[in-house]
Amino acid sequence: MSHIPILITGAGPTGLVLALWLTKIGIKVRIIDKAEEKVTTSRALVIHARTLEFYRQLGIADHIVEMGFRFPALNLWVNQVRTAQVSIADIGKGVSPFSYIIILPQDQHEMILIKELEALGVSIERNTELIDLEQNEQKVTAQIRLSNNDVETISADFLAGCDGARSIVREKINAGFEGSTYPHLFYVADVAGRGPVINGELHVSLDKSEFMAFFPLKQPGHARLIGVIRDENKTPTWDDVNPRLLQEMNVTITNVNWFSTYHVHHRVASHFQKGRVFLLGDAGHIHSPLGGQGMNTGIGDAVNLAWKLGEVLNKKSDLSLLTTYEAERIGFARQLVQTTDRAFRFISNDGPVAQTVRTKIVPIIFPWIFKLQIARHFLFQSLSQTGITYRKHFIKSAQKLQPGDRLPWIESVDNFKPLQSLDWQIHVYGDRAVKAKYEVHYFSWNKEMQDKGLQKNIAYLIRPDGHLGFFT
Ligand SMILES: Cc1cc2nc3c(=O)[nH]c(=O)nc-3n(C[C@H](O)[C@H](O)[C@H](O)COP(=O)(O)OP(=O)(O)OC[C@H]3O[C@@H](n4cnc5c(N)ncnc54)[C@H](O)[C@@H]3O)c2cc1C
Repeated sequence: MSHIPILITGAGPTGLVLALWLTKIGIKVRIIDKAEEKVTTSRALVIHARTLEFYRQLGIADHIVEMGFRFPALNLWVNQVRTAQVSIADIGKGVSPFSYIIILPQDQHEMILIKELEALGVSIERNTELIDLEQNEQKVTAQIRLSNNDVETISADFLAGCDGARSIVREKINAGFEGSTYPHLFYVADVAGRGPVINGELHVSLDKSEFMAFFPLKQPGHARLIGVIRDENKTPTWDDVNPRLLQEMNVTITNVNWFSTYHVHHRVASHFQKGRVFLLGDAGHIHSPLGGQGMNTGIGDAVNLAWKLGEVLNKKSDLSLLTTYEAERIGFARQLVQTTDRAFRFISNDGPVAQTVRTKIVPIIFPWIFKLQIARHFLFQSLSQTGITYRKHFIKSAQKLQPGDRLPWIESVDNFKPLQSLDWQIHVYGDRAVKAKYEVHYFSWNKEMQDKGLQKNIAYLIRPDGHLGFFT
């Protein structure tokens, strides 16, 4: 029986990022996927700033940004009238080195991750399916069906279930998947066409009965449409998309390149860890695509677990560190599912109050919110996940910044650059000399540091994922 430190089940974005981080820190992995070929559809489009920050640590952010498309503005249409156009080109200025939102189809995004892994000598074992697993205190034993139908038994120190919404890993560790499914059937369509809403910006159109969003794609004259199909009597096709809204929005579609429908669920697994087995990504949480959070959250799970597995396998920490993965990530997933659920119910609710709010109140409030710097800042931090904190799992400090918070980005000195070591480090903002077993980075004190809550001459211990550990 072969042995591997980590067996990763599933080569979607979550499994790929987990494999990449672990490989970069020198941990051997096997990554398997039951699909014969990599998926070639565009699915999740949005890459947020926190993911790009992790990608900078992994050395691939520039490539992703270059391949992607930074969309400049967000428009709201109500009853076919444009009620707001707001610039989001630099919405996160000063908060993150990536102050924008990137659009990159998931298949192209995955291809970059796959090539990066291959360059490091790791290939995905396709047509290879996890069919069973068991574990004891020392190891996990997994049965995998190979492409020639033989069954191989693998032993692993740990198994990561990145196997998507229908996760077999979740089933095998008896984790529930509480939540429910919305009655509406959603469609996504990648189209070529023309009209005022296919212009490289994001458009959301609301009226009393319909909701439609037009996401820009990099190729001019192309867009992703998202909406709801009400009649579900047969297998829906593009012909079932209500043409009324398209006509009223003056949109002409010349080609439909991809069309798919899906039911939206909101569910979170009852636990993300059982012994040596973990759930990540869609295997642990699924929710409405509003805000483009799903894939980005899976990538966040992968980073959170990767460095902790590295610490344990490199014998720098004991197994108890791994329990913090579930504590930190399940809380975030629950909160996210709750928020996206509320937003989704609001958008899809047919009741008269919701209709009035959507068509009368939102158009008034929306432009004002985007004019307020504090509101733009809050919105960016929430959507981009740069506002994430694990502070409730740490002992409280008397300072504004707390252990567990994401290290604030200090633009003037670019204090995120050293995070590319993927290792623990100490940051000192000021001139106090510190002796430590970790690399120490000194930054000359300035006002930006004070404005962002840092304190002069304190030694901040920074985790490999860029969150604050303890400070003295
Ligand atoms: C039609 C569609 C449109 C979407 N649109 C959006 C969007 O606009 N915005 C957004 O944020 N998200 C969207 N999503 C969701 C997004 O694609 C997922 O959140 C994301 O792919 C999750 O990544 P993951 O790696 O966790 O899981 P997945 O991408 O689902 O990957 C899981 C992998 O595990 C493999 N696998 C499963 N079982 C086994 C097994 N037993 N053994 C081995 N391998 C196994 C599968 O083959 C798959 O490759 C969309 C999804 C779909 C289907």
